[in-house]
Amino acid sequence: MPPLKLYNTLTRKVEEFQPLYDNEVRMYTCGPTVYDYAHIGNLRTYIFEDVLRRTLEYNGYRVIHVMNITDVGHLTSDADFGEDKMLVGARRARMTVWEIAQMYTEAFFRDIHKLNIKDPTIVCKATDHIPEMIALIQRLIERGHAYQISDGVYYDVTTFPEYGKLSRLDLQEQQVGAREEVKVNPEKRHPADFALWKIAEPEHIMQWDSPWGRGYPGWHIECSAMSMKYLGETFDIHCGGVDHIPIHHENEIAQSEGATGKPFVRYWLHGEFLLVDGGKMSKSLGNVYTLSDLEARGFTPLGYRYFCYSAHYRSKLNFTWDAMKAAQAGLDHLHSLIVQMEGDGTGELSEEYRARFHEAINDDLNVPAAMAIVWELVKSELPDPVKKATLFNMDQVLALRFDRAREELDLPPDLEEKLRERQAARAARNWAVADRIREELAAQGIELEDTKQGTRWRRKRFYREPAPAAPAGAPA
Ligand code: AMP
Ligand code: ZN
Repeated sequence: MPPLKLYNTLTRKVEEFQPLYDNEVRMYTCGPTVYDYAHIGNLRTYIFEDVLRRTLEYNGYRVIHVMNITDVGHLTSDADFGEDKMLVGARRARMTVWEIAQMYTEAFFRDIHKLNIKDPTIVCKATDHIPEMIALIQRLIERGHAYQISDGVYYDVTTFPEYGKLSRLDLQEQQVGAREEVKVNPEKRHPADFALWKIAEPEHIMQWDSPWGRGYPGWHIECSAMSMKYLGETFDIHCGGVDHIPIHHENEIAQSEGATGKPFVRYWLHGEFLLVDGGKMSKSLGNVYTLSDLEARGFTPLGYRYFCYSAHYRSKLNFTWDAMKAAQAGLDHLHSLIVQMEGDGTGELSEEYRARFHEAINDDLNVPAAMAIVWELVKSELPDPVKKATLFNMDQVLALRFDRAREELDLPPDLEEKLRERQAARAARNWAVADRIREELAAQGIELEDTKQGTRWRRKRFYREPAPAAPAGAPA
């Protein structure tokens, strides 16, 4: 078996992966803040994490995967100022924060199921773990890592000399960012100190009792409290997007290691960003796309998953509608070849291709290389049933639903019947009937090509432009 190698942000090296407990991998991924729909950038990160989990399982590990749901208000920026994201979402939708959290949590799981992302073993909500967070903050105070001031409890970064080891920024550099803060409590000892507990204004909806007064937790503490609760004080893998390296994950390390004195996480993995039209997605450009936006235009969720496979997770990936169309056509083509292959996907597989595939994904999840092997296999001279069995095996990692290719293509149920009818019509030189069937199928998005080996078909998608967005200020 090829060794599994993963790039560890902590060491900046590709390392051979070894779990802490023999065959078990304990993995934590930062989940969504449920105040809005996930955008396709967020989804790229969840797809990367799913490929990681599936690769671990493909290597024979039992994975315990924990993901949090941030359903408590935290602030619109990583800094301790600004508006509460949940409140902003709630006001916009004219709902309570609890209803907002419920609604967007459901939407999130709908999206990830459509993308064939496996459910985490444990999903934990921040609001269900307030006592665990309070206990952790108390531990930090006892160990001299946290202090209370008028508006809450803060982590004292100067008490943790390793602060910055993940991002490789020193406190001096951290201060630069911190200086941009608008509203800072002047009682803070260091600009990079961050809130563990905030005292709530009376009108703040989500608030809980604590030894420091009624309030609510800082954002970072939930991930330390919940990951250690379910996975232990030291566990194998922690992931998220690259934006989390400098603040969120740095703070998680400071909180967890400050409280326990033990290493927190052994392998840190981070997914690079998705760009749209070459830049950052932004509301003002109207290009913060969701999965539903893609579907509304005629793309499939797995088409987007396949699109994500065009780049390594540590490279930026640029989303454009043209690139998305190319990806959708690629996946549709692959699915249509599979539907037209003989065999049921079980039985003997090509060990040569399987092994090469395994090597590619074990090489720090080199999915683009793995996809090239998939295409090479499809175009090879191997018998159909062997190809199909090998593809089904690879799909344990790729999760492109090779076993449900027909459904993914949304084929007319009587496609084969129509093809046989047309075949018979052509044999009888009844061109009128043959052409009529061709047109009928074309109207359903099936294009025929008559070759010497017989008639082949392809799925054609009909893409739609979405209805123009309502003008600014129009009622929702
Ligand atoms: P959030 O709900 O903002 O915490 O984001 C959820 C996940 O998506 C986090 O792991 C982020 O790092 C990640 N993320 C945010 N924006 C992007 C992006 N443009 N591309 C890839 N991942 C992103
Ligand atoms: Zn987190």
